[in-house]
Amino acid sequence: MITAYIALGSNLDDPLAQVRQAMAELERLEESALQAASSLYRSTPMGPADQPDYINAVVALQTGLAPHALLDTLQAIEQAHGRQRGAQRWGPRTLDLDVLLYGEETINDQRLTIPHPGISERAFVLFPLQEIVAPDFIIPGHGSLQELLPRVAADRPERLPDA
Ligand code: ATP
Ligand code: MG
Ligand code: MG
Repeated sequence: MITAYIALGSNLDDPLAQVRQAMAELERLEESALQAASSLYRSTPMGPADQPDYINAVVALQTGLAPHALLDTLQAIEQAHGRQRGAQRWGPRTLDLDVLLYGEETINDQRLTIPHPGISERAFVLFPLQEIVAPDFIIPGHGSLQELLPRVAADRPERLPDA
């Protein structure tokens, strides 16, 4: 089993419910066990500004699924949530599930880049991630979380109270 970190995001069709539901689905994933889940956060959109705020979270998943099988499964969940891929990069979506990390593995192929290319500069990823990892956590190839967090502090997302 490998620990994979997954970023969740939604800004359409009741984003809070989308993310909560997706977490419940990740809990039931085949060959996997949910190890930790961050709080939910509200963030302002990256990319096109004329879209609703996002709800974000990060989870740690113990999984026996290989990286591409995990991606297939996550994309099936996105589809089940009505995800439509429009022409616009970083446009609004019902659900986005990105593989941030897959153990210590580095992957660069047509379907997968791991660590996720945005991981080190996205406040809506780093703040929730901080909640569920050790203080000295290292993101392979990017350095320690403690070094990265201050660089994105201006974009710190709003942590929502536990439901
Ligand atoms: P970003 O990846 O910058 O957050 P996005 O999440 O909006 O953008 P998507 O439309 O969800 O992008 O995904 C586009 C493609 O990215 C997917 O079809 C998938 O093959 C590819 N991809 C590459 N690396 C990853 C990864 N680590 N996690 C999820 N998808 C990935
Ligand atoms: Mg994404
Ligand atoms: Mg994505």
